[in-house]
Amino acid sequence: MAKFRSSSFSLFGQRQTARLNEESSVVVIGLGRFGSALALELMASGTEVLGIDGDEEIVQAHNRLLTHVVRADSTKEETLRQLSVPEFSSVVVAIGSDIQANILTASLLIKLGIPNIWAKAVSEPHGEILRQLGVKHVISPEKDMGKRVAHLVRGVMQDYIDIGEDFALVKTAPPQEILGKPLSETKVRTVHGVTVTAFYRAGQGWSYATMETVVLDGDIILVAGQTERVESFSRLP
Ligand code: ATP
Repeated sequence: MAKFRSSSFSLFGQRQTARLNEESSVVVIGLGRFGSALALELMASGTEVLGIDGDEEIVQAHNRLLTHVVRADSTKEETLRQLSVPEFSSVVVAIGSDIQANILTASLLIKLGIPNIWAKAVSEPHGEILRQLGVKHVISPEKDMGKRVAHLVRGVMQDYIDIGEDFALVKTAPPQEILGKPLSETKVRTVHGVTVTAFYRAGQGWSYATMETVVLDGDIILVAGQTERVESFSRLP
């Protein structure tokens, strides 16, 4: 990264001379379990990542796995500037237990004018503080995962995604009553208030569902609708 002006941090990277495209790359600050999984998933989906962590061992462990990885303290404004962080449009604060470092980092990112800041909150009051600071995307991985697993444990759903505003997307086995006839005849929307958006058939993979789609025993369906309605629908025999 040609822009680095100081050696107050250590830089590792596969392509240390190459510059990241700050517009399309993401900075992940804090490479604990959550930050690391997030950064590796971004890399796997083709997004370049600048990882920042204060711990030398953690930085070493991510060497070659991320586009660049730097050992630095994210609570120092000068350090963030030296790392060209203000030029990135998306930054994730994945520091968890050190709430002070998390809040300080988030407030510096706001001061630096980063348009898309994502910050991890470890409690409700912590999330509230981040929102009051102006962080638009506050994430609570443990809480969100707990809610998601609760829905999976309660029903026969194979997967559950909370879209927000009382809306959810559910992957489930189709109930008997919709099998063997076109979806238009099943009246799922009027009777159950849900929409079958896609279906999976062994050997054929996933397809969009249309009014003419005939769901068969053994298929898997993707259903969208109000949380309570998709839950009751997925419990039908
Ligand atoms: P997880 O559950 O994801 O493992 P956690 O909530 O336990 O995360 P922490 O271990 O507190 O999170 O923080 C994640 C990482 O953030 C750690 O690797 C830590 O070294 C790093 N970190 C903490 N403070 C700073 C800081 N000021 N600057 C850079 N990195 C930091």
